[in-house]
Formats: sequence, C-alpha cells, structure tokens
Amino acid sequence: MPEEAITEVDQFDLVEFAKQVRPAAPTYETLLSENAPSFRKFLDDFREKVRGIRESGKKVIVVLGTGGTFQSDETDAGRAPTASLRESFDALGLPEDPSVHLMLCDLMKLDSSQMTVDQWRFLAEMIMELEEKISDMYDAIIVTHGTDTMAKGASYLSLMLKGFPKSIIFTGSQEPARKSGTDAKDQMERSISTAKLASSFNRRIAEVMVCCGLRVSRGTWAVKLGDKTVNAFGLWNQPNQDFDATDWERASRDGTLHRLAPALLDFGTGKSRGGMEFASHAISYDHKGPYDPFTQITSPANLFPASMTDKSTEAFAVHIVQQRVAILTQLGSATADDSLIEVALEAAKRGKIILFEAPFHDSTVLTGTYKAGARVRESLPNLQRRLPILNTSPATFDAKTNYLLHRLGIQPLGQSEGLGVYFDDNDLRKFYDQMEQNLVRELV
Ligand code: ASP
Repeated sequence: MPEEAITEVDQFDLVEFAKQVRPAAPTYETLLSENAPSFRKFLDDFREKVRGIRESGKKVIVVLGTGGTFQSDETDAGRAPTASLRESFDALGLPEDPSVHLMLCDLMKLDSSQMTVDQWRFLAEMIMELEEKISDMYDAIIVTHGTDTMAKGASYLSLMLKGFPKSIIFTGSQEPARKSGTDAKDQMERSISTAKLASSFNRRIAEVMVCCGLRVSRGTWAVKLGDKTVNAFGLWNQPNQDFDATDWERASRDGTLHRLAPALLDFGTGKSRGGMEFASHAISYDHKGPYDPFTQITSPANLFPASMTDKSTEAFAVHIVQQRVAILTQLGSATADDSLIEVALEAAKRGKIILFEAPFHDSTVLTGTYKAGARVRESLPNLQRRLPILNTSPATFDAKTNYLLHRLGIQPLGQSEGLGVYFDDNDLRKFYDQMEQNLVRELV
C-alpha cells in the first residue's frame, strides 16, 4: 500500500465527519414549523365537529399518528410508514362501535428507530395543547407508534407529562394495517377497549400506557419482547409466575398488589384473573400528584451502558472519562468486578455521574449476599450518600436520566485533565436523590 494512503486513513477525523451527518427525522424546530400548523387546525375544528357526537353520549378518542409498521407499506427500499391514519383505519375495517367516535390526526410519519427526544418532545407538546384547548371534548388519546422504540417514547411521555389527567395509549403492530391478516386490527381493537375502560368515570386510569400485545402496561414498565410475536410487549416487572385468583386476593388484602400486578389490564386468558381486571393501584388517577408537564429536553440521553466484567481497569477508566453519565450494568444479583467498582467510585468522588443499573427485572440487592462488588454500597463522603443502584427497564433508565438532567438544570462545571466532564457535589446529590424517587411509579 502506498505510504500516502495510510497517512490519509490515519488522519481521518470521524468526530468531525459525524458533525456533518444529519438525522433522518425532522428536528423539533422543523416539526413545529411544518407539522404543528395542521394539528392546530385539527384542534380549531374539533369542537364544532364533535359537539353533536359528544352530546349523544359517545366517547371521543383522539388518535395521533406517528408512523411505525402500523402505517407502513412495502416500498422498493423496504417497509416505510407512508400511509395516513385514515388509510390505515379504512383498511382495518374495525367493527362499528356505537359507543365510540374516533378523531384521527397525523402528526408525523416516522420509523420509530429514527425518533429521538426531538419527536417525543413535539408529541408531548401537541398533547399539552390538545388538553389545554379541548379538554372537555375528548376522553382519551391513542398514539400509533413503531414498536422498536415504543417503550422509550412511552417512558419519555410519562415523565414529560407527569400527572396528565387522561389516558394516553401507545399502540402499534408487527404487520402493516394495510396488509391482510395483520395483527394491527387486534392491537387497535384492544387499544380502543382500553381507552374506553380507562376513561370511564369509576375506573379512571390516567397513565401513559403501552397496549401492544395481550397485556396493557404502564408506559414505564413496557419491554419489547420480539419482532414476530403478536404479543409484542411484556412488562419489566413481570413476575416469574402467573398469579391465580387466590394470589390476587391475598395481594390485594396485604397491600402487595402494587408490586405484583403484572399488568394494568390483561386481555389474555392466563391465570391472572383473566379478562378485564385492573390492578387497584392504577385506578386512582391522583397517585402521581398534580399535572406537572416539563418538555424542555433538548438533547438525547447519550448513554452507553457498560457491563461490569471482562474489562481492564484502564479501558474501563477511559470509557468513564468519555461519558457525560456513566451507566454501569451489574451482573447477576448485583455483583461486579471489584477492581471496576473501585475505579467507578473514584470517578464519582471526583464529580463524575455514575449510575448502577440492575441487570434483570427481578434483580434485588441484598447486602452481604455476595462479597463480589460489595463495595458498591459504600457511602461517598463528598456526597454523603451511596450511588444509586436502579431497577427500571433500560428504556426508562435512559429517559429518566435525561429528563432529570434537564429538569434539574445540571450543567458541567468545566473540563479537567483526567475526567472529561465534572459536576458539582450538591447537584450530584440532588440528581442521585431524584433518580431514586419514584417519579411516575417507574421503579419496580
Ligand atoms: N421499525 C418499525 C418501527 O419501530 C417496527 C415496528 O413498528 O414494529 O417503526
């Protein structure tokens, strides 16, 4: 190989290159200028359009389209969300339901893998406008969304719209609505049933939910199970065993139901009381406190979790230095390589944000279970506290971290030689304390 060519390759600056690469999806600003006007027109006409319908006692459900497979067609380049909500619903041929009226509005047409906080922020803000302008004219919201990042979108929305007074139901499908034999019809029918039940006066479930599969879950609990299964979403806090009726009775009596309830609503025929049973804790809509929206999230989470094994201390240190926030995934029952823990604790003492993530939905950390990694429970003198070990779904973990960094306005103080970015101890303590709080019942 000629020498010149080698030099050129060596000097290529990938980071500089990356700065020129544009994201596939329209930015927040573009969405505001190009997509918001037709949504606002939809809101302006809404009152007039549904007045008579509402007076007749029907439930009014707003369906907001964001794309995903649900709205996709086969194109030369592969599946792409090109269909409108209207076209998709027409193809589904849902049975006539005299108790419900659907109001459809396309907000975006994106593959959900392209979505970032920009699009979720836009979605949240449009929902805020909807509630502000026509609160008295609708009962619930259904959002069509690709399944790939549905759990993350639902997590962001749960946090951004904390305490929102109505149900927001995310749904999607594994096959396009316009394909014959699609699961889209069942998914949408279940979502409409959920919207009806969840918005009925005595069973009000004011939650961001995921309804894409047999179990309806809180937005912050949902986990995608696979690409092919119609039962596309499971729950992060899903117990290992199904509960039978007696377990449920006992759990409601002794108050453990809120931990054990596997779903907000179960459409399966499994043992968990079958059919349409709501977990009692979900029914009360004031449990998350007052409506307290916050959407000013201006950058992605930028989190790159690293598992705490099979890494040299040096490579691990280099990784931590480069992270704005280091997410360190523990093993098994929250064990870890002790030398890596030592490096992580030192970084935290010097102002780096370090968060420990439990590896499984049922991980619990009991002091003394294992000696390996036990130092993770050490209190740091500068923070007067331990570092948090959190058990939420990975999607919620990212969303919550990013939400809190923005909400608390945590800014780096500056650059230092060894540590790329460092933070003030008081800010860090505030941040860690909030991470350990259940903001929207996301922690299991
Ligand atoms: N790629 C699709 C999306 O997330 C997959 C789906 O919708 O199931 O948008």
